[in-house]
Amino acid sequence: MAAIKLETSLTSLLSIGPRFVNRLSKLNIFTVKDLISHFPFRYEDFSQIYKISELEPGSQATIQGVIKEINFRRSWRRRMIVTEALISDDSGSIRAVWFNQPYIRNILRPGRLVNLAGKVALDEDEIYLSHPTYEMVNNVGNQETKHTGRLVPIYPETAGLTSKGLRFLIQPILKNLEKIPEFLPQEVLKNERLPEINRAIKNIHFPEEVRDAEAAKKRFVFEDLFLLQLSNLEQKLRLAKERSPVIQTEIEKLKNTLTTLPFELTLSQKKSLWEIIKDLGKSSPMNRLLQGDVGSGKTVVATLAAQITSSAGYQTAFMAPTEVLARQHFETLKKIFNRIERNEEPVTALLTANSNKIFYETDVETEVKKAELQRKIASGEIKIAIGTQALIQKSITFQNLGLVIVDEQHRFGVEQRAALGRSSAGIVPHLLSMSATPIPRTLMLTIFGDLDISTITELPSGRKKIITKVVLPAERNNAYSFIREEVLKGRQVFVICPRIAAPENSNLTTSDVVKLELKNVTEEYEKLSKKIFPDLKVTMLHGQMKPKEKEKVMADFRDRKIDILVSTSVIEVGVDVPNAVIMMIEGSERFGLAQLYQFRGRVGRGEHQSYCFLFTDSTGDATKKRLKAILEAKNGFELAENDLAIRGPGQFLGESQSGMPDLAMEGLKNMELVKESREAAIQLIRKDPVLKNYPLLKAKLNKFQKTIHLE
Ligand code: ADP
Ligand code: MG
Repeated sequence: MAAIKLETSLTSLLSIGPRFVNRLSKLNIFTVKDLISHFPFRYEDFSQIYKISELEPGSQATIQGVIKEINFRRSWRRRMIVTEALISDDSGSIRAVWFNQPYIRNILRPGRLVNLAGKVALDEDEIYLSHPTYEMVNNVGNQETKHTGRLVPIYPETAGLTSKGLRFLIQPILKNLEKIPEFLPQEVLKNERLPEINRAIKNIHFPEEVRDAEAAKKRFVFEDLFLLQLSNLEQKLRLAKERSPVIQTEIEKLKNTLTTLPFELTLSQKKSLWEIIKDLGKSSPMNRLLQGDVGSGKTVVATLAAQITSSAGYQTAFMAPTEVLARQHFETLKKIFNRIERNEEPVTALLTANSNKIFYETDVETEVKKAELQRKIASGEIKIAIGTQALIQKSITFQNLGLVIVDEQHRFGVEQRAALGRSSAGIVPHLLSMSATPIPRTLMLTIFGDLDISTITELPSGRKKIITKVVLPAERNNAYSFIREEVLKGRQVFVICPRIAAPENSNLTTSDVVKLELKNVTEEYEKLSKKIFPDLKVTMLHGQMKPKEKEKVMADFRDRKIDILVSTSVIEVGVDVPNAVIMMIEGSERFGLAQLYQFRGRVGRGEHQSYCFLFTDSTGDATKKRLKAILEAKNGFELAENDLAIRGPGQFLGESQSGMPDLAMEGLKNMELVKESREAAIQLIRKDPVLKNYPLLKAKLNKFQKTIHLE
């Protein structure tokens, strides 16, 4: 028989009927390669064949015996058909029972020798095999089995495709599969003690021992991490070859600006700024992520970078994810530039879908037509353009863009740098992205491995610690009274409504989720405004509102015209309202710890003592313990690691999972393996930067880069 090739389509295999082909296609399994890449997620140990007399109730076991009799009957009480067989070996006999599978009687004929694997159950005082998997055996002893008498692979179950069915399809294919060329370098296999690919494939499906299965799995996880690392390194090398404007910092001027700030930069703000200054001065593009908790002072650092860029004669594009945040950044920059000397302040513009403003000189802010703004950006008169996505429309071209700053959307930033940079032929602007989302170290070393990182580790001094409390149902009313007192003292309150997550495999679309969230926030708003705080000014904010309306609500909140702002979780992460001192989170158990930490960062920004109330109706210990973690966390990173362990990387990478293979996702939790893969990739690239001597690996890498779309 000719060897089966990897690319062979399943439809052309006689051993796979059209019904299976159809079901497999629903799992995106079309070829032999797809099928054998559908890995089991665990194994059941039926490796030892037991004597019937040795069976213990409650255990899982395989026996081998002869069918003595087999019958079925209807069980009226349970409304089903019960098939019962009696099997015996030389030590005794036992009953086996199946429900609603009367056809079994036609397969397991009396006199046949079979393996049965399954659970040993106890019925009154007699043991029996409940719903065992069966497999015919021709002779006693050395026959290769798929379902019994071995470590049996268990696959993720899907409609119409059982593990048994998959084993049935996969085993014969593996037996006749062509030899697959190894693409991992021999020295890597050797150093990491990983099995060669053909062996790994066999062992991940049908291992002899648990150890073999584990080694195989490690190989596949490593494979993906290794490709990811190579991909990062390649990206870095490619970027290093691009040209960027050399932006030199005038240190005296910077010092002057620093003296005009109403505070001194923290140590890590200084350090981060210095790292940025060094990058800007190079002729290859900066690719740096500035991370730090909400309120740690990232915007100030970014603003200084923009000013430096402007002084050197280049423009900066400063992008925020939302209109409200763009507006806020505009205000922040204005405040900072208002203090520096006249004629030193960069001409700064705000460009969003709804408002176009230019800030020229101290205190002068002008609303202009979009066309005029575009013209001034194209002529280079505007030095810093702040905006939303509106900044990257085709109609906007910069005269000499030197720096792109992107808030909270790194991947978006990398993509857009190219778009923004296209005007200046061959010159790539520097990129600084900012994130308050703490990224766990393993992700930093993998997914974000192509980035240089600056971290602001401390909050500005003088901030008061935020008092955080888990509020159980019995304590609700107390919390409400406390909130009222604070409002009567003149303070303001954020309320975050529970997150709606579409359950896995549900048919909920994004728009359903949006509707549910709207319903949620509306209900909470009604409850708080009518029942709990009818005497206070309560307003709601959600993603369905028009930008103008949102803007108005945020402005009113900032201007203290609103006491309590009820909002969905998805909205306006970075807003800065120092007079808001209470963050109340409903259904807090539904959020990730890192996310709760982020919400809490909205308060504690002013002179007043701030509070975070984590409301929960779930009184379970697990919830309490999890929420307690946030009370005790030293910083967001600690929580992020925690979240990664509990909820997996999807949490950080977004719902789409960015096309990352499942196993790699698992690998992202494994720090040891992440480090090893990184080390191995660095060594290889050092030796052979373009993988000249590893054509198979290179081809694999190219494919890999096409499937993951992280950027
Ligand atoms: P982030 O962008 O990291 O959320 P911001 O840059 O908006 O933080 O800073 C939050 C607040 O802290 C702002 O009001 C800012 O003026 C102030 N701030 C920034 N750096 C310092 C500092 N070193 N000392 C005191 N206050 C600071
Ligand atoms: Mg911010």
